[in-house]
Amino acid sequence: MMKQNNELYKLKSEFNLLHHEDPQLVIEKGNELEKKFHLRKMMIIGEGVVFMLLLAGAFAQVRNTFKKEVALADQQTNFMHSITHELKSPVASIKLSLETLKLRELEKEKQLEILSNALHDTDRLNHLLENILLAAQIENYNFQIHPEPINISDLTHTLLKSSIQTFNTHSFTQSIQPNLIISIDKSNYYSIFLNLIENSVKYSPPGSLIKIFLEKREGLVLLSVCDQGIGISDDEKQNIFKKFYRIGKEEIRKTKGTGLGLFIVKYLVEKNKGAITLKNNIPKGSIFEISFYG
Ligand code: ADP
Repeated sequence: MMKQNNELYKLKSEFNLLHHEDPQLVIEKGNELEKKFHLRKMMIIGEGVVFMLLLAGAFAQVRNTFKKEVALADQQTNFMHSITHELKSPVASIKLSLETLKLRELEKEKQLEILSNALHDTDRLNHLLENILLAAQIENYNFQIHPEPINISDLTHTLLKSSIQTFNTHSFTQSIQPNLIISIDKSNYYSIFLNLIENSVKYSPPGSLIKIFLEKREGLVLLSVCDQGIGISDDEKQNIFKKFYRIGKEEIRKTKGTGLGLFIVKYLVEKNKGAITLKNNIPKGSIFEISFYG
């Protein structure tokens, strides 16, 4: 910039000196110099504008990165809060059940009820720990899968049967086409299925209906989990698959969770060469549809 200012100054001085020569020559040279001067001026202004634009672009970039970092830090803090709660509450509940059984003589029926609650809490804890371990393995890029041909119809039946017992607050209907075979890592399918069922229960009111479909269509095996819950707005449809992402504000949210479930589901589905789509259910709720090559 400084160099260009100096050149401009030189040009102007040359122009002033010319006024002592032949008037015609002075006019011609003057015009030429005037043009050069104007061109230089435009160049400097152009460079200035480009410089300002680059500066504004860099500023916007820094601002966006900063905003993303703050959002991630917020999500991680939320994750720490929810994980602490999620780990502590089933442990406290199991401890209470065991203490009650130890201290009091209870009728057989009551004992069974307390034991089944404790088992339910153990399942919850187990599911949570599995999700944390899976997320950590995914993060460390050392995630191995072991696909094998599996009768996915039978496996879905088995998983659904135990889910119906666990989530007895909701009603389930199913339409499972028999003997569909796909190549998939069995334990990955457990995680995918259980995370989707757990969400459909968590985000729909007690007593509402959850429908499970498994069918073969156009060479693909499709699993659909349809609920009649709160649904997911179009703006949030992409976000919910991000790690730690949970819709809404942490302080006012009532449901428990860590924001890991759908991140894991998407990763596992894609790792097994499948795809996941999310649609609105009618009149309300969500449909998560997973497709694998059959
Ligand atoms: P978590 O349920 O532990 O919060 P997920 O990763 O499983 O985490 O889900 C991310 C977010 O997506 C949830 O917090 C919730 O806001 C939204 N979500 C997931 N499944 C459903 C569903 N079936 N209906 C409505 N919202 C859902």
